[in-house]
Amino acid sequence: MRLGAQVSVSGGLTNAFVNAQEIGADTLMFYTKSNRRWQAKPISEKDAQAFKETAAEYAATIYPNVVHANYLMNLGSPEEDKWEKSYHSLVDEINRVAQVGLKLMVMHPGSHMKTGEETGLAKIAQGIRRALAETADSAPEVVICLETMAGQGTNLGYKFEHLAYLIEHIEGGPRVGVCFDTCHVFTAGYDIRTQEAYDATMAEFDRVIGLDHIKCFHFNDSKYDLGTRRDRHEHIGKGFIGSEGFACFVNDPRWADHPAHLETPKTEEDDEGNKTEMDPVNLATLRELIK
Ligand SMILES: [Zn+2]
Repeated sequence: MRLGAQVSVSGGLTNAFVNAQEIGADTLMFYTKSNRRWQAKPISEKDAQAFKETAAEYAATIYPNVVHANYLMNLGSPEEDKWEKSYHSLVDEINRVAQVGLKLMVMHPGSHMKTGEETGLAKIAQGIRRALAETADSAPEVVICLETMAGQGTNLGYKFEHLAYLIEHIEGGPRVGVCFDTCHVFTAGYDIRTQEAYDATMAEFDRVIGLDHIKCFHFNDSKYDLGTRRDRHEHIGKGFIGSEGFACFVNDPRWADHPAHLETPKTEEDDEGNKTEMDPVNLATLRELIK
């Protein structure tokens, strides 16, 4: 498996590679926009070119790379202006991924905001479908990876059936896939702690969605237990999922070429205030699990 992490691009998009190399990652994921603001400066042609050149330099060591879309977007929103903003933001995100020469873009499906799951899912499917049509010429190779969610609040995507519904109604063919987040799937109620539980969850995923839809993973352990529908990430092996669960993923030959990214806390501080960079520690933990 290709193991990496979400990395910072502060100071410039090409810093993603510098930061990924520093932690010993085989693959990276980053945000091209802030999650705190709707507006983002367009990526200049010069910056896009620099990113592509840097990606080519690292082509043998850091790949395949993934963009995570901002999560202010909510195509499940019943508010017209919020929906419109979300829609335009999504089209922009898809085009930005194509602009930097990447293919995989992870997005959170959205929330129904108490309008009901069916209503929310229908609105989301309609929005993504339209966004894919609008970017058919500008970003034909970009694949939207719908992320499995924990189900906090009115978030959708915590049942495999939600994602199956979206994939069916978006009708995007190869332009729609899934990002499998271990923490979210687990707190949503699907056990992955043992080989037996993992096999059953994967069989269920295959039955409802189809395993070939999985394009990438988020590797996070969980601060909360099975079925709590809470989304709090813990270091690998230190949470409720545990090492045995992650061993199932990294040793599954079906995922040999798939990228998996950590979204676990970046640093830990001891009692004396000494900080430890945790991405290298979590990557080492995962690599030790490979048999
Ligand atoms: Zn995410």
